[in-house]
Amino acid sequence: MSVIDETHDPRRESWVTSAKGHAEFPIQNLPFGVFSPSRGAPRGGVAIGDEIFDLRAGLEAGLFSGDAARAAEAAAGATLNPLMALSSGPRQALRKRLSALLFADNPERARIEALSAQLLHNASDCTMHLPAAIGSYTDFFAGIHHARNGGMRRDPNNPLSPNYKYVPVAYHSRASSVRPSGVAIRRPNGQRKLPSEDAPSYGPCRKLDYELELAIWVGPGNALGEPIPIARAGDHLFGLGLFNDWSARDIQQWESQPLGPFLGKNFGSTVSPWIVTTEALAPFRVPQPARPAGDPRPLSHLWDETDQREGAFDIALEALLMTEGLGAKGLPPHRMSASNTTDLYWTVAQMIAHHSCNGCNLAAGDLFGSGTISGPTTAGYGSLMELSNDGTREITLASGETRTFVEDGDEVIFRAHCRKAGCAPIGFGECRARII
Ligand code: CA
Repeated sequence: MSVIDETHDPRRESWVTSAKGHAEFPIQNLPFGVFSPSRGAPRGGVAIGDEIFDLRAGLEAGLFSGDAARAAEAAAGATLNPLMALSSGPRQALRKRLSALLFADNPERARIEALSAQLLHNASDCTMHLPAAIGSYTDFFAGIHHARNGGMRRDPNNPLSPNYKYVPVAYHSRASSVRPSGVAIRRPNGQRKLPSEDAPSYGPCRKLDYELELAIWVGPGNALGEPIPIARAGDHLFGLGLFNDWSARDIQQWESQPLGPFLGKNFGSTVSPWIVTTEALAPFRVPQPARPAGDPRPLSHLWDETDQREGAFDIALEALLMTEGLGAKGLPPHRMSASNTTDLYWTVAQMIAHHSCNGCNLAAGDLFGSGTISGPTTAGYGSLMELSNDGTREITLASGETRTFVEDGDEVIFRAHCRKAGCAPIGFGECRARII
């Protein structure tokens, strides 16, 4: 499943100066995204340090051939869907070629560097777009600590519903309202009714929350009626990003009985613009943590020994909050929580296998949210619902301000990094958005 090759070599450095030791995008990462230069149309690119490598310009300069050219052509347009639909062979060929082109000891370096004005754009001059045309977006519920924290209010003795350890629970959400990082989200109006109120009313959300999630980008799809077997499910993952499933808790709490989330969730979601590929993540695969004693073994269509051995990821996540008060005092964003993708109860392959097990067809560019990834203690709670105990516990920021839910003008920022001894650390860039 995980191929580790010269592209992951921690000694490999790029001739792109800003990429050396870059916290997010060293030469070992090479994530894909869609960007526009200051004057130009949206196109596919690869982040390298503080620069973006322009795949269209690379094709025009004749830098790719064979499978790598096929993948670069598929990645060079206004969406990455054609690249996502390809098998891992061409993707790996493109990754190897990009790594070789950007490598400081590349024999072609002088020729490539001479082209750098065409090939590279300063990322700060560019606008990032959604990386794909998202046909369908599904939100899972695989963060078990979040699921348990949410269920505690319902039934403290049985916070998890009886299906939780058998079914990777999910709901279909709204693809059309997903926005790239940096686009402000408007506080939704809706019908809400607090338990203390006699009647519902319509008005602005009073419990606006964020949810710290992984963005899971589907690669090659499956035909309707043909389930993806668990042993092949990993081949259908293109890569990962960060996802904020903005949630209007008061609207959600009133409307969700009995059909689940609707207007409390679909008014806007934020996704990070760079997709860290399964190839880049190969060194950071880990075993799926063993289920606690007494938990059921997944049914056979969700069980695969290889997936259990290396199907999880070790990705450190953090959620930060920037407020006007912090900004006025020159203070940095307040760190709200830190958690890890090993806090997920289900692997990505299990989510893919489950989603298609009834024959449902997935397509390249489909997006999954993992579900809120909370750690086991308060320090890891990935939503304000959990941190503030549904608004009953105030969180004090370094500015002296307090929060229970998100206020207008607040900006929520997610970051993620993979770190492991003997590997170059890589990051995901930011997933950020301000509430207006
Ligand atoms: Ca969610």
